[in-house]
Formats: sequence, structure tokens, C-alpha cells
Amino acid sequence: MHRELEGAFSLTDRSAVVTGAGSGIGREAARVFSLAGARVAIGDLDESGLGDTAKEIERAGGEVVTRRVDVRRREDVEALVDAAVLGFGGIDVMANVAGIIRNRRVVDTNEAELDEVLSVNLKGVFFGCAAAARAMAASGGGSIINIASAGMDQPAEGLSAYAMSKAAVAMLTRTLAVEMGADGVRVNTIAPGFIDTSMTRRHFVDDAGRVDAKTRDALWSTMSSQSPLSRIGNVKDIAHAMLYLASDASAFVTGQTLRPNGGVVMP
Ligand code: NAP
Repeated sequence: MHRELEGAFSLTDRSAVVTGAGSGIGREAARVFSLAGARVAIGDLDESGLGDTAKEIERAGGEVVTRRVDVRRREDVEALVDAAVLGFGGIDVMANVAGIIRNRRVVDTNEAELDEVLSVNLKGVFFGCAAAARAMAASGGGSIINIASAGMDQPAEGLSAYAMSKAAVAMLTRTLAVEMGADGVRVNTIAPGFIDTSMTRRHFVDDAGRVDAKTRDALWSTMSSQSPLSRIGNVKDIAHAMLYLASDASAFVTGQTLRPNGGVVMP
């Protein structure tokens, strides 16, 4: 590839913060950002998963700091951003990835369940946005990437709280893009389709890690058949889209929602 294009997609001498990096999409985003040249500060509730992500990054020659973070706690999220600012001299990329899903119809959802989903998926992203935007504005700008879901566009039975939280994340993104553009801060949403991670595997993997192959094959086949590309997504599909938004290749893109969903939803 020509050096001009390598530069556009490179994160050399940049620093990136990723929440939810102990697993799935967050882990792959941290790994890809590191491969692109960034120093990465990663946070998650799952310390063991976080450690595995860090080992993978270090084995490939990357620089990483880890912090146990509960994104529902503003001080945890701020401490993660501070770790990048103090450790790496600033923050150029913030990826708010941590999220949970609960399957419950509106009429069956109690207040605690509603609060839980909104606290992680919406307030957690809000805290990450605020901490990163402040730090980025102080150092000339950066790129914030918020992970929503195809569920924000397409109602599905049982996903009310989840879909609401993700639709709100897209509006938060657009509001922050308007507020922070003059400070050089770009803010965008990624709304993934159905991706093979522990979030989707919970449908056919039990607590002991046993896989129900019949249920898996049926689910994979149903979800694949909804895509014009006839497949479900993988974590690279999302991490590569995130690299585009993190890098200068997307320098004129802000306030947008990118939908790597295999064409399942085309709003
Ligand atoms: P995942 O493999 O379950 O990863 C999510 C990570 O977030 C887990 O390590 C989880 O830790 C962590 N987490 C949960 N609550 C947290 C909290 N309060 N503070 C900090 N970390 C927390 O799922 P994924 O599929 O990679 O999901 C990542 C993001 O993509 C989520 O926002 C999800 O909604 C979104 N998404 C996923 C899909 C999909 O099909 N997989 C589609 C659309 C959007 P624990 O394991 O300890 O809970």
C-alpha cells in the first residue's frame, strides 16, 4: 500500500482507550488499534479477560495498560481516561464498547432490570464521552466511537431496554458531535449487526462452557439468512470499521452512524 494511504489509516504515536476490552468486539478493537500503532488503555469488569487481551497485545509488541472499570461508575471511567492521559501523554481515540443485553418484554421488565441496561449501555457511554471529550479538547482533538446496535433501527421482541439504550447512544453521539466539533473532536456511532461473540453465544453455550451445536447451527443459519451477504459478522468486521473512524481516513466524518450489519438493516 502507498505510504499516503498507510498514513491515513495509521494510529502511530496515538493513544486509544477501549472499554469492554475483556471480550469480543472491545478486545478485537484494542488489538487492531495496537496493530495500527496506538498505545492502548483498556478497561472492563472482567479482569481475567482484560489480562488475556493485554497479553495478546504485548505478545504482538504493543503497549497497553489495564484497569478494572465498571462503566456505571463515573469515577472508574474517568480513571481509565486519566490513565491514558498520564501514561501516554494524551488520548486520541475513545471507544465506548462495554455493553450488556437482556431479553425481556416491556410488560415483564422491572425497574431494576431497566436501570441496569440503561446504566451500562447509556450512562456508561455518556461518562466515557464526557471524560474523553474534555481530555481531547485540551489537547487539540480526537475521535470518539460509540458502539450501538442494529437493534436501534429494527424493533425486536424482548429487546426494548437494549434497543432504547442503543438508539439513545446514537443521539448522544450526534449531540456531542455538534458540541465538540470546534474543539477538533469527532464523534461517531457504530451499529453492528449480529456478531459472533460471547454476547450472542450465550444462546447455545451453558455456564460450564458446553456448546449446544444444534441450537448454534439453527441460530447461525437463521441470522445468516437475513443478510444479503448470507453470513453473520465477526469481531474483525467491527474492529476494522472502528479503525476507519479512529484514524485520519475519516477526518471529515462526524455525528454519523456506520452500520456494519451485513445489509440486514438498511434504514
Ligand atoms: P461481550 O463479548 O459480552 O463483551 C462485552 C464486555 O463488556 C464484556 O467483557 C463485559 O464483561 C463487559 N462489561 C459488561 N458490563 C460492564 C460494565 N458495567 N463495565 C465494564 N465492562 C462491562 O459482547 P460484545 O458482543 O463484544 O459486545 C460489545 C458491544 O457491542 C456491546 O455494547 C454490545 O451491545 C454491542 N453489540 C454487540 C453485537 C453482537 O451481536 N455481539 C451486536 C450489536 C452490538 P462481563 O463479561 O464481565 O460482563
